[in-house]
Amino acid sequence: RHPGRVWYIFLNLAIALTLMEMNMFAALNKLLGFYSNVGIAWIAAVAADLVINKRVGWSPKYIEFKRAYLYAVNPAGFGSMVIASTVSILAFFGLFGAYAEAFSTFIAAGLALTLCPLIAWATKGRYYLARPNPVNGPGVAVADVTATHTCGVCETAYELPDIADCPVQGGPICSLCCSLDAECGDVCTKAPTGEPVLLPVPQVRGD
Ligand SMILES: [Zn+2]
Ligand SMILES: [Zn+2]
Repeated sequence: RHPGRVWYIFLNLAIALTLMEMNMFAALNKLLGFYSNVGIAWIAAVAADLVINKRVGWSPKYIEFKRAYLYAVNPAGFGSMVIASTVSILAFFGLFGAYAEAFSTFIAAGLALTLCPLIAWATKGRYYLARPNPVNGPGVAVADVTATHTCGVCETAYELPDIADCPVQGGPICSLCCSLDAECGDVCTKAPTGEPVLLPVPQVRGD
């Protein structure tokens, strides 16, 4: 059973302490410069998705973040980020000459910005949604998104945007428990079990 999000503070403290003890500050400039290639490729891919892909229709009109409705990997986002950061890291280490080394972050941004729409277009946006969201997706009539379902695993009440219908639970599951489930085998996104699960009527707050 997962101990909860709060405990990650100790993991982060341990990482920070280890890095400081290893005298990371001496290498900070190189380290941040190196990481910025990945960071910029990531942000540029996200920006391209929101600004270009969503507008053109290669990406769903709404933002879905729950594992129950997504493919494990979407080449439009992850692929463009990996390619852009790999190329720009090679440039960062001087593989393509002095100019490319100095402008490696621009290579990261430019590649991610162009590759993300290109891959989304080539894959026809197929790897965004694995199945429609019947809880509060587009086309689902929801009277009140702040109404809650109780997660079948942690038994906490969550508002509709944080809830998925789970065939393994046979009912509602919260996004955290859903993303941490190692044994469900992602049956919710696979036929023939990937059918919407009938959920109870959500609880409206303040009544
Ligand atoms: Zn839960
Ligand atoms: Zn699932």
